[in-house]
Amino acid sequence: MFRSTKRRTAGRRNFEEIASYGSGASNVKSGLYSQRLSFYDIPPLEEITLEEFEMWAIDRLKILIEIESGTARGKSAREIESSIKPMLMKYLPLNSSGNDMLNERRKDHYSHYILRLVFCRNEELRKKFIKNETLLFKARYNALQPKEQHEFINHYHDKLNWKYIDKDEKNALFDDLYAATGTVIRTMLMVDGGETISNDQLKQHIRVKENFIKLPFEKVPALVAGRQLYLSKGDVYVPSTLQLNLLAVEFQESLNKQLMRTFQAIPRLEEDDRLLPLLNHLANNFSSLQFDSYEADSTQASDIHAGSITTTAITKHYPLCATHLQRNMSHNSHLKYTGRQQLGLFLKGIGLSVDEALKFWAYQFTKNGSGMTMEKFNKEYKYNIRHSYGLEGGRTNYKPWDCATILSKPKPGKGEYHGCPYRDLSADSLVSNLNEMGISDQSEINTVLEDVNRREYTVACTRVFELTHKEQMANQKNAEGLHISHPNLYFDRSRQLERGENKTSVAESVAVN
Ligand code: SF4
Repeated sequence: MFRSTKRRTAGRRNFEEIASYGSGASNVKSGLYSQRLSFYDIPPLEEITLEEFEMWAIDRLKILIEIESGTARGKSAREIESSIKPMLMKYLPLNSSGNDMLNERRKDHYSHYILRLVFCRNEELRKKFIKNETLLFKARYNALQPKEQHEFINHYHDKLNWKYIDKDEKNALFDDLYAATGTVIRTMLMVDGGETISNDQLKQHIRVKENFIKLPFEKVPALVAGRQLYLSKGDVYVPSTLQLNLLAVEFQESLNKQLMRTFQAIPRLEEDDRLLPLLNHLANNFSSLQFDSYEADSTQASDIHAGSITTTAITKHYPLCATHLQRNMSHNSHLKYTGRQQLGLFLKGIGLSVDEALKFWAYQFTKNGSGMTMEKFNKEYKYNIRHSYGLEGGRTNYKPWDCATILSKPKPGKGEYHGCPYRDLSADSLVSNLNEMGISDQSEINTVLEDVNRREYTVACTRVFELTHKEQMANQKNAEGLHISHPNLYFDRSRQLERGENKTSVAESVAVN
């Protein structure tokens, strides 16, 4: 996709020049990565490869997509935090020590700045980026040890102008601090832990765990108006429990200003023909990046063959796009080109071999009354099916289409059934499909229709997945609520949940016997 060799171009800064901007150019040497968390207020200046540029951005995007989807589905901040935890460990770890510590911080820093380039272009994208990055920032701050939180605040002392009170001042003011902030601290602790806290436990908590900062009262008007803080001589005393909200506001304001600056610098960047296609690709396809494993899971594919893929044992795991295509193909004994591509690659992705695919399509197209002979089928369709498995022509092994690809194709015309039904079906038809999938509660249907009205089709699909797998997800502690961005991800997750349930019931029956 990109030239691997660097070239000199008039008007463009080249890496060698940037690297020679003096000793301050090295982000690592400058101590930039001394903290796990960052306000990202110093831009990266070191050289990275185009592959790193792309992969790091994609990895961060996966996290932001998950946050965006969780928010759209009404998950609480706590639920989102726990759903992104394993993803953070996989895609964007930030350990406090270890051999990779600096590289992890560098990746975090660069990926944030690359996505600024993607998301600075209009108001809507900026808002989305700020909202999701702030949630990520809060989740990561919560994961820091109290000592690290303290160090982080001290590191940004000039920016935040926060001052921790010392032990003596805290002891002298303890009764006032307890009287003013005890209620709000108790409430926050109960939200986190869910247990009732006695007065003695609360006092002990404040004495040991709460580090108070002292700020001029005009810096936190909202908190002062709530009358939940101790105010003395023009200063308010804010406990650790409430500091994260203040930090988040600082983070948002700073990011907003910096995104505007990036936006103003974009015309200069657009002269760069190496980065522009990549940035456009990231912006256009950001909802499709979650599911990168299109190979059929061999442990699940053993029962996938021409005969089984029309049975409910298998079709109950299909997302609506696949159901819609297969149902109409079966009804009409035919499917037009784009639909054949979309369904054929989906079936390939769930594990249908090329021989079984030929049997399946041949049977469907020639079955009674269709008027098509086997000879005609072999002449007109066999080559294309083999081609999609990489056995003809240029021998490209085509991947199943993700939701973004499906949504980027022209909408289905008369007699066509490809596309995404959440976008392409009328409201009535969609509701009747939802009913068939077992969703009949009007308020649940309304939430799906609201997603559709906002054009958030993959969010609607994810919501439908959650509604139709509610019990299985509740029974399996480790079931992840991931965003659906690929029809094959829908299928695989649905089967995994079923297999998990079967395992549990087998284990239970063994235990009973
Ligand atoms: Fe299919 Fe994706 Fe639409 Fe769901 S959101 S129906 S998986 S295209």
